[in-house]
Amino acid sequence: TPAADLERVTGLLRDVPDFPSPGIRFWDLSALLADGGGLAATTRLLASAADDADVVVGIEARGFLLGAAVAHALGVGVVAVRKQGKLPMVAATRSYDLEYGSATLELPAEVLRPGARALLVDDVLATGGTAAAAAELVEGAGAQVAAVAVVLELPALHGRERLDGHPVHALLAR
Ligand code: AMP
Repeated sequence: TPAADLERVTGLLRDVPDFPSPGIRFWDLSALLADGGGLAATTRLLASAADDADVVVGIEARGFLLGAAVAHALGVGVVAVRKQGKLPMVAATRSYDLEYGSATLELPAEVLRPGARALLVDDVLATGGTAAAAAELVEGAGAQVAAVAVVLELPALHGRERLDGHPVHALLAR
Protein backbone atom coordinates (compact mmCIF):
# COMPACT_ATOMS: atom_id res chain seq x y z
CA THR A 1 0.00 0.00 0.00
CA PRO A 2 1.12 3.63 -0.41
CA ALA A 3 1.21 4.03 3.37
CA ALA A 4 3.51 1.04 3.76
CA ASP A 5 5.69 2.31 0.91
CA LEU A 6 5.98 5.71 2.57
CA GLU A 7 6.94 4.13 5.89
CA ARG A 8 9.71 2.19 4.19
CA VAL A 9 11.03 5.32 2.47
CA THR A 10 10.98 7.30 5.70
CA GLY A 11 12.90 4.61 7.54
CA LEU A 12 15.70 4.53 4.96
CA LEU A 13 16.33 8.28 4.52
CA ARG A 14 19.44 9.62 6.29
CA ASP A 15 20.30 13.19 7.14
CA VAL A 16 23.89 14.29 7.66
CA PRO A 17 24.59 17.53 9.53
CA ASP A 18 27.07 20.07 8.15
CA PHE A 19 27.58 18.48 4.73
CA PRO A 20 28.86 19.66 2.28
CA SER A 21 29.37 22.82 4.35
CA PRO A 22 28.60 24.01 7.89
CA GLY A 23 24.91 24.65 8.54
CA ILE A 24 23.66 22.49 5.67
CA ARG A 25 21.63 19.40 6.52
CA PHE A 26 22.27 16.97 3.68
CA TRP A 27 19.67 14.32 2.82
CA ASP A 28 21.34 11.12 1.69
CA LEU A 29 19.43 8.56 -0.37
CA SER A 30 22.23 5.99 -0.55
CA ALA A 31 20.65 3.55 1.91
CA LEU A 32 17.22 3.97 0.31
CA LEU A 33 18.52 3.30 -3.20
CA ALA A 34 20.59 0.33 -2.01
CA ASP A 35 17.54 -1.40 -0.51
CA GLY A 36 15.48 -3.36 -3.06
CA GLY A 37 12.18 -2.85 -1.28
CA GLY A 38 13.03 0.78 -0.60
CA LEU A 39 13.82 1.46 -4.25
CA ALA A 40 10.62 -0.29 -5.34
CA ALA A 41 8.53 1.70 -2.84
CA THR A 42 10.14 4.99 -3.89
CA THR A 43 9.61 4.19 -7.56
CA ARG A 44 5.92 3.37 -7.09
CA LEU A 45 5.27 6.54 -5.10
CA LEU A 46 7.09 8.82 -7.55
CA ALA A 47 5.42 7.19 -10.56
CA SER A 48 1.99 7.93 -9.08
CA ALA A 49 2.69 11.67 -9.53
CA ALA A 50 1.76 11.47 -13.23
CA ASP A 51 0.67 8.09 -14.48
CA ASP A 52 -0.27 9.68 -17.83
CA ALA A 53 3.25 11.00 -18.49
CA ASP A 54 4.78 10.01 -21.83
CA VAL A 55 8.38 10.59 -20.79
CA VAL A 56 10.40 11.00 -17.60
CA VAL A 57 13.08 13.68 -17.30
CA GLY A 58 15.74 12.83 -14.71
CA ILE A 59 17.96 15.58 -13.30
CA GLU A 60 21.67 14.90 -12.72
CA ALA A 61 22.70 12.96 -10.78
CA ARG A 62 20.40 11.22 -8.32
CA GLY A 63 17.48 12.08 -10.58
CA PHE A 64 19.04 9.70 -13.13
CA LEU A 65 18.78 6.71 -10.81
CA LEU A 66 15.26 7.53 -9.70
CA GLY A 67 14.13 8.73 -13.12
CA ALA A 68 15.11 5.56 -14.94
CA ALA A 69 13.29 3.42 -12.37
CA VAL A 70 10.17 5.59 -12.58
CA ALA A 71 10.23 5.57 -16.39
CA HIS A 72 10.46 1.78 -16.40
CA ALA A 73 7.54 1.54 -13.98
CA LEU A 74 5.43 3.80 -16.22
CA GLY A 75 6.48 2.00 -19.40
CA VAL A 76 8.00 5.16 -20.92
CA GLY A 77 11.51 6.39 -21.73
CA VAL A 78 13.83 8.65 -19.77
CA VAL A 79 15.67 11.82 -20.79
CA ALA A 80 18.75 12.91 -18.82
CA VAL A 81 19.05 16.65 -18.13
CA ARG A 82 22.79 17.00 -17.58
CA LYS A 83 25.30 19.43 -16.19
CA GLN A 84 27.02 21.51 -18.83
CA GLY A 85 29.67 19.90 -20.99
CA LYS A 86 28.53 16.27 -20.79
CA LEU A 87 26.24 16.02 -23.80
CA PRO A 88 27.59 15.86 -27.36
CA MET A 89 24.39 17.26 -28.90
CA VAL A 90 22.47 19.89 -26.98
CA ALA A 91 18.94 21.18 -27.60
CA ALA A 92 19.16 24.04 -25.10
CA THR A 93 21.12 25.33 -22.10
CA ARG A 94 19.84 27.03 -18.95
CA SER A 95 21.87 28.65 -16.16
CA TYR A 96 20.58 29.38 -12.68
CA ASP A 97 21.91 30.81 -9.43
CA LEU A 98 23.09 28.69 -6.54
CA GLU A 99 23.73 29.92 -3.00
CA TYR A 100 27.27 30.65 -4.19
CA GLY A 101 27.92 30.90 -7.92
CA SER A 102 25.77 29.36 -10.62
CA ALA A 103 25.08 26.09 -12.40
CA THR A 104 24.11 25.19 -15.94
CA LEU A 105 21.90 22.36 -17.18
CA GLU A 106 21.54 21.04 -20.72
CA LEU A 107 18.83 19.10 -22.55
CA PRO A 108 19.93 16.55 -25.16
CA ALA A 109 19.02 17.32 -28.76
CA GLU A 110 16.19 15.59 -30.60
CA VAL A 111 14.87 13.32 -27.89
CA LEU A 112 12.02 15.27 -26.29
CA ARG A 113 8.99 15.24 -28.59
CA PRO A 114 7.06 18.55 -28.81
CA GLY A 115 3.77 18.12 -26.96
CA ALA A 116 5.06 15.29 -24.79
CA ARG A 117 3.96 15.27 -21.14
CA ALA A 118 7.13 15.05 -19.07
CA LEU A 119 7.41 13.95 -15.44
CA LEU A 120 10.46 15.64 -13.89
CA VAL A 121 12.23 13.55 -11.23
CA ASP A 122 14.90 14.51 -8.69
CA ASP A 123 15.80 13.52 -5.13
CA VAL A 124 15.43 16.79 -3.23
CA LEU A 125 13.55 20.04 -3.93
CA ALA A 126 15.42 22.76 -2.02
CA THR A 127 15.40 26.32 -3.45
CA GLY A 128 13.80 25.00 -6.63
CA GLY A 129 16.43 26.52 -8.92
CA THR A 130 17.43 23.17 -10.37
CA ALA A 131 13.88 21.96 -11.02
CA ALA A 132 12.86 25.36 -12.42
CA ALA A 133 15.75 25.29 -14.89
CA ALA A 134 14.85 21.75 -15.96
CA ALA A 135 11.19 22.75 -16.37
CA GLU A 136 12.20 25.70 -18.56
CA LEU A 137 14.30 23.41 -20.74
CA VAL A 138 11.36 21.02 -21.16
CA GLU A 139 8.97 23.83 -22.05
CA GLY A 140 11.53 25.44 -24.33
CA ALA A 141 11.52 22.20 -26.33
CA GLY A 142 7.74 22.49 -26.73
CA ALA A 143 6.93 19.74 -24.23
CA GLN A 144 4.76 20.07 -21.12
CA VAL A 145 5.63 19.55 -17.46
CA ALA A 146 3.08 17.03 -16.16
CA ALA A 147 4.51 17.24 -12.63
CA VAL A 148 7.70 17.53 -10.62
CA ALA A 149 8.25 14.47 -8.40
CA VAL A 150 10.83 14.42 -5.61
CA VAL A 151 11.50 12.20 -2.64
CA LEU A 152 11.94 15.13 -0.29
CA GLU A 153 10.87 18.77 -0.25
CA LEU A 154 12.42 21.37 2.06
CA PRO A 155 9.42 23.73 2.37
CA ALA A 156 11.36 26.40 4.28
CA LEU A 157 13.25 27.15 1.05
CA HIS A 158 10.02 27.76 -0.96
CA GLY A 159 11.18 25.85 -4.02
CA ARG A 160 7.60 25.16 -5.07
CA GLU A 161 7.02 28.89 -5.61
CA ARG A 162 9.64 28.95 -8.37
CA LEU A 163 7.88 26.25 -10.38
CA ASP A 164 5.20 28.35 -12.10
CA GLY A 165 2.33 26.40 -10.60
CA HIS A 166 3.49 23.03 -11.93
CA PRO A 167 2.19 20.25 -9.67
CA VAL A 168 4.82 19.19 -7.14
CA HIS A 169 4.60 15.68 -5.74
CA ALA A 170 6.92 15.30 -2.75
CA LEU A 171 6.89 12.02 -0.84
CA LEU A 172 8.12 13.74 2.32
CA ALA A 173 8.72 17.25 3.65
CA ARG A 174 11.34 18.15 6.28
P1 AMP B 1 17.78 23.42 -5.44
O1 AMP B 1 18.16 23.82 -6.83
O2 AMP B 1 18.19 24.42 -4.41
O3 AMP B 1 16.31 23.05 -5.32
O4 AMP B 1 18.64 22.16 -5.08
C1 AMP B 1 18.25 20.94 -5.56
C2 AMP B 1 19.41 20.09 -5.94
O5 AMP B 1 20.48 20.14 -5.00
C3 AMP B 1 18.95 18.67 -6.00
O6 AMP B 1 19.43 18.12 -7.21
C4 AMP B 1 19.54 18.02 -4.78
O7 AMP B 1 20.18 16.84 -5.16
C5 AMP B 1 20.54 18.98 -4.22
N1 AMP B 1 20.28 19.39 -2.81
C6 AMP B 1 20.00 20.65 -2.39
N2 AMP B 1 19.88 20.70 -1.06
C7 AMP B 1 20.07 19.45 -0.60
C8 AMP B 1 20.07 18.85 0.70
N3 AMP B 1 19.84 19.55 1.82
N4 AMP B 1 20.30 17.51 0.77
C9 AMP B 1 20.52 16.79 -0.35
N5 AMP B 1 20.55 17.30 -1.58
C10 AMP B 1 20.32 18.61 -1.72
